[in-house]
Amino acid sequence: MLKQRPTELRVGGLTRLSTCDWPGQLVATVFCQGCAWDCAYCHNPGLRPARTPAQGPGCVPWAKVLGFLSGRRGLLDAVVFSGGEPTLQPALLEAVAEVRRLGFLVGLHTAGMNPETLEQLLGSIEWVGFDVKAPFADYARVTGVRHSGARALASLRSLLSSGVEYEVRTTWHPDLLSLEDLYRLKEELRSLGVAHYVIQRYRSQGARPLLPEVSEFPSLFAGSGDFQRFEIR
Ligand code: SF4
Repeated sequence: MLKQRPTELRVGGLTRLSTCDWPGQLVATVFCQGCAWDCAYCHNPGLRPARTPAQGPGCVPWAKVLGFLSGRRGLLDAVVFSGGEPTLQPALLEAVAEVRRLGFLVGLHTAGMNPETLEQLLGSIEWVGFDVKAPFADYARVTGVRHSGARALASLRSLLSSGVEYEVRTTWHPDLLSLEDLYRLKEELRSLGVAHYVIQRYRSQGARPLLPEVSEFPSLFAGSGDFQRFEIR
């Protein structure tokens, strides 16, 4: 991927303080505009279109993000690039470098749709929240895009072999993934060497009205709540 200047990064939103976008860290979250997949449960559907230019209506100029971060040195631990899908933007690599020069750790939320860029980034980031959509052969059922599973699998392999800390997570909705699918997925992840895995319940807030609300997790998962965390051994 050709590099672009950080000022070309299309930022659709900025959360100035989050304690949950990177568990255990106080972070600011930069929401990158644009995503090539079409998950029915997407919580940021407004970020899916790849709007241009970076200074256009609805976008937060990179200079403004940088100015904000400059004033938060020593107060925030890290910056998380989320989306949308950050790895689709050629300006991401240089934007990450600028954030590091300010002294912040860097985290990334990705669904792994661009293994080439992820590979380039892994030496410059400390943590990845990696969305796994389905058993890898069944990805198109969730993403609406053929061969999306192969790209996600390549990205996940590269993440696991990098040694960068991560959390793999799956959003579960019974209309998209049966319990059998979930069991199969968990086994696929185990065989790949995934140790930290979270299954989160679909929530309709912020999503398009395409799926019914899910009232609770099935009895397969011990306990209750919005997500279940597994250490896979
Ligand atoms: S990959 Fe993420 S940002 Fe893209 S449509 Fe799916 S949930 Fe939304």
